[in-house]
Amino acid sequence: MPPLSTSLSELAARVAELEAEREMTLRLAQTDSLTGLVNRGAFTGSLCERLEAARAAGTSVALFIIDLDRFKNLNDTLGHHAGDMLLAELGQRLLDEAGPGEMAARLGGDEFALVTQDADPAARAERLVAILSQPQVIYGRAVSPAGSVGVAVFPRDAGDAADLQRHADQALYRAKSGGGRRWQAFDEALRLEGIHRRTLEDELRRAIPAGELAPWYQPIVDSMTGRMVGVEVLVRWNHPEQGLLAPGVFVPMAEELGLIRAIDEAVFEAACAQTAPWVADGLIEVVSVNVSPRDLLDPAFSRKLIGRLGKTALPATALTVEITETFLLQDMALARRHIERLAAKGVNVALDDFGTGYSNLRALMHLPIQTVKLDRSLIDDVGRDARVSKLVASMLHAARSLGVRIIAEGVEHEAQALFLRSAGCDRMQGYFFARPMPGEAMEAMLREAVNPSPARLAAAS
Ligand code: C2E
Ligand code: CA
Ligand code: CA
Repeated sequence: MPPLSTSLSELAARVAELEAEREMTLRLAQTDSLTGLVNRGAFTGSLCERLEAARAAGTSVALFIIDLDRFKNLNDTLGHHAGDMLLAELGQRLLDEAGPGEMAARLGGDEFALVTQDADPAARAERLVAILSQPQVIYGRAVSPAGSVGVAVFPRDAGDAADLQRHADQALYRAKSGGGRRWQAFDEALRLEGIHRRTLEDELRRAIPAGELAPWYQPIVDSMTGRMVGVEVLVRWNHPEQGLLAPGVFVPMAEELGLIRAIDEAVFEAACAQTAPWVADGLIEVVSVNVSPRDLLDPAFSRKLIGRLGKTALPATALTVEITETFLLQDMALARRHIERLAAKGVNVALDDFGTGYSNLRALMHLPIQTVKLDRSLIDDVGRDARVSKLVASMLHAARSLGVRIIAEGVEHEAQALFLRSAGCDRMQGYFFARPMPGEAMEAMLREAVNPSPARLAAAS
């Protein structure tokens, strides 16, 4: 039998080992495995503790939230492994930046956080932007990452962790959309904007059941005959105090709040009911509806849409669903399933805003898309600028050889219309023909053939 002292020291060693193991497990549970930074779960708890300590000591806590720009694009072009390498590198840069007592965390995806005691965060924010944009070599290619930074300071900007995060996020959003110096501190203007936005959010939630959202219509014109052959459905919000609101004001917000599906469904139902007689009476052939990329991420989207369509009097062959490449590239397989399921029922799918993104061509090559809507930004200088005209003409040529139908959007002038027609563009839409209008006005225009387009195009040629 070994002496008692040996057993005791062995026991002590074993206890120490277990202690170390437990600590390691705990640390692993709190660490993001790719970057070695604190993970989201541990971040929130630690932020709360830091705020309590700062409250007691009368000091400040600055929360910087960092988000990479165009990270998805890098992932798509160089692959996920390259994306991971970049995230790991940026994680290391943040760890190097974090001083004693500061915390660097990965909040998920390409979003990071740094928590410091800075009372005036400007200098640090500048440095973070600079640190993020240092180039990195991945697979022999120099990649220049770029990030945006939003910052809020406790107790100046927020009284608790939830508000601090919300305000830093709000500042980040502004930094991303500002296009300026790439960082933004929470300030009085953002506070007011936040209050205004929350009011609008509450009102939007009520607006849907209250029936304040209505479909408006813009005619789609046949380039050759100038005849109105279809309509695009564009939602409008009849706000009780602010009057008519365009989708730019509330659609992005509805997407963030998860309300967009309810809006799209309500608009779809109302538009089908209103347009079915127009189609039945031979006034138009096409009713084109917009769906949010958010809707399309639902694997059951196409099945549900077909189900809802079946309850209306609109024939499936008259319906076009406009989708954007944002979604197509997120999940090509799901996109294909939706498009094929819709096509099997006779529903047409159009690729919207063509010419604004990076990789529409990939989507066109790999997916059975029959219609493309050329974005207004491409149409703007057509017929006026020789280079732009040539580019658009060759795009039209390429599309035709693929058997894809082209609709030009945002046609505002005669010169554009004439050029597009001569370059073989099938259909057009824009203020030159008519602005979006309420259903009654659209119906009157169609029925009474108060149809300015043939006359305008005929007069122009
Ligand atoms: P979009 O699908 O690209 O729609 C075309 C936009 O261009 C419309 O803006 C239309 O009014 C405008 N437009 C048409 N012709 C001209 C022109 O000649 N010149 C100029 N400057 N603009 C023209 P609107 O109605 O404000 O809609 C903006 C965006 O909101 C739409 O862009 C679409 O992405 C989205 N949206 C509209 N309705 C819905 C909807 O019911 N659901 C969803 N998810 N999104 C919608
Ligand atoms: Ca559209
Ligand atoms: Ca468009």
